[in-house]
Amino acid sequence: MEYRPGRRGFLTRMLLAATALPAALVGRAHARPARDFDYEYEVTRTEEEWRALLSDYEFAILRQSGTEWARSSPLWNDYRQGDFSCKGCDLQLYSSDWRVALDKGWVFFAHSLPTAVMTDIDPGNPYGLRREEGTAVVEVHCRRCGSHLGHLLVVEGQLVHCVNGTSLIFAPRTG
Ligand SMILES: [Zn+2]
Repeated sequence: MEYRPGRRGFLTRMLLAATALPAALVGRAHARPARDFDYEYEVTRTEEEWRALLSDYEFAILRQSGTEWARSSPLWNDYRQGDFSCKGCDLQLYSSDWRVALDKGWVFFAHSLPTAVMTDIDPGNPYGLRREEGTAVVEVHCRRCGSHLGHLLVVEGQLVHCVNGTSLIFAPRTG
């Protein structure tokens, strides 16, 4: 599989400029499991249990790999010091120490906490990127419950975790 970082970066810039695309992902009609490969997550729930835990909007993002509307989560421009954990299982995933300030409407980090996240090749070909053309998007999810967090993207020349605020619980540090 050929890797084309230049084209991917270009497409990434295009997609981040096109605010209608994430809505299309949330609204896509076909539901699919969050994961297509065989891996035993530490936290597992039935679909009914997930739906009882999450709103329909949260379910579409965490469990069906949807993408929230840009600027829809209050976390996107909340730069207080604190810790970010998974809305699906409370595992601590990210720290404000690694926030990256990008005016794009999602929550960006340079790193996750070690051992906090896993990756997958997003099979949904979001943004028109196609696996067979070497431009499939690297998806990021919680290693404890498998919930979808976002993607690894090159934004303004920097490799970042582009995370849905909807997938996170923020605990500000006090004192
Ligand atoms: Zn989780």
